[in-house]
Amino acid sequence: MENFKTLEVLISNKTFQFFLWVGILQLLAQVFLERRFAFWVSILFATALWAMKFELLTPLKAWLIVLTIMLIYFLPKKLFEFNLFLHLRGKKRCPMCFSEIHKRAKICPFCKSSLERL
Ligand SMILES: [Zn+2]
Repeated sequence: MENFKTLEVLISNKTFQFFLWVGILQLLAQVFLERRFAFWVSILFATALWAMKFELLTPLKAWLIVLTIMLIYFLPKKLFEFNLFLHLRGKKRCPMCFSEIHKRAKICPFCKSSLERL
């Protein structure tokens, strides 16, 4: 019963509904477009539809969430070549051959290049 209530709150949440729209549009767009491109098309489309039907505040909130997540993920990746998902799996990427290797490896098992920082 408790769980059901949380689910109810989540479903009645406007931001959640907006992301649901984005998800459905994404599924449609993915048929024709590449995944990443489809995401941007679907979120833009959902924003336009939502703004026409309801208000603009919910899409703005959703954009803020998306941009925050992107900032957390892409900023370290671009600045320090730090990949959050790889790090959580205890891996890193070899700078020479781009294979996924153990976080603490000193020699890449694939291309045998030394990974010690100079
Ligand atoms: Zn390598």
